[in-house]
Amino acid sequence: MRKNDSLYQQLFAELPKHRIYFDYEMRSFSTFNVGGKADILFLPESISEIKEALAICRNNSIPFQVLGRGSNILISDRGIRGLTIYLGRNFIRVSHEDNHIRAQAGASLAAVTALAAKNNLTGLEFSVGIPGSIGGAVLMNASAYDSEIKNVVISSSYLTPQDEIITLNGDEHQFDYRTSIYQKIPGIILEADFALKEGKRLEIYEKIQEFQIKRRESQPIDKYSAGSAFKRPTDNYASKLIADAGLKGYRAMNTGVSEKHAGFIINYGGASASDINRVFAHVKSVVETKFGISLQPEVKWIGDWPEEEIQWKCLQ
Ligand SMILES: Cc1cc2nc3c(=O)[nH]c(=O)nc-3n(C[C@H](O)[C@H](O)[C@H](O)COP(=O)(O)OP(=O)(O)OC[C@H]3O[C@@H](n4cnc5c(N)ncnc54)[C@H](O)[C@@H]3O)c2cc1C
Repeated sequence: MRKNDSLYQQLFAELPKHRIYFDYEMRSFSTFNVGGKADILFLPESISEIKEALAICRNNSIPFQVLGRGSNILISDRGIRGLTIYLGRNFIRVSHEDNHIRAQAGASLAAVTALAAKNNLTGLEFSVGIPGSIGGAVLMNASAYDSEIKNVVISSSYLTPQDEIITLNGDEHQFDYRTSIYQKIPGIILEADFALKEGKRLEIYEKIQEFQIKRRESQPIDKYSAGSAFKRPTDNYASKLIADAGLKGYRAMNTGVSEKHAGFIINYGGASASDINRVFAHVKSVVETKFGISLQPEVKWIGDWPEEEIQWKCLQ
């Protein structure tokens, strides 16, 4: 249930006015380009500001939500209740020493990959074209082509809802296909440390270019989407199953399955989050009926979704 804006404005009055917004349209914070308003949107600049905002949430039973660069989420048309913390504007510092790069969670993968390449460091080329933040990439163990985040992140730190900062190292991340421990514990990823290897600049840039071309040729990167809609099922490919089910190019008004890559669900412009949600449900249901395989969404549903609209996600 929404509280009224003036109460929220009183509660969060001490936070910098130019970085906190009430009843804020969130569409542009999602690569699907859909979603309603956040009750409170905060663009923190420091850990102490995040702590301050979380303390207000704790003391007033206000839920909070973190967003990276919004490239793996579907925000409800009804918006997001409570506090939404967006790190992608001001929490973006990236630094480099020897073979190591340290990046704040809101920095883009692209910025980190560019810094690595500029310093002849190899290991992050795979991530070129993944439009996420460091926080989102670690939480999702983003991967592509020949590698994954697991191979390059050696440690990360996060803030617990109880105000503690905890560092995780190596295996403690429990990285696996499109997942990490961060999907099981509440908290805000603050930063990550990357260990890369020295490489040859020309080879690094050639690899980056090769992956960019592959992506451009195979994926609808000029359309609103969240990348692959579903996870890869065991011994199969979601995109192959969807295409074999006859759904490649399936269209439902302003949304549907890409004609270029059947793994992508697209907003062609003007679709609502509910429209897109219905396409997800339809694709899952058709594939299940035809092949008996239960596709699991890779995308995360964010915000205030009516229970009846998202029940399909629980069906095995
Ligand atoms: C065109 C396109 C191509 C893509 N290609 C790939 C690909 O090749 N490989 C791949 O793996 N993915 C791909 N993706 C998906 C997406 O880019 C990745 O999953 C990315 O890692 C998500 O990062 P994000 O910052 O956008 O996260 P968001 O979408 O903002 O958030 C995703 C989840 O992470 C949580 N989160 C984000 N930041 C934090 C934080 N600091 N602390 C705690 N939780 C946090 C959010 O709450 C949410 O649950 C693609 C997406 C698009 C649109």
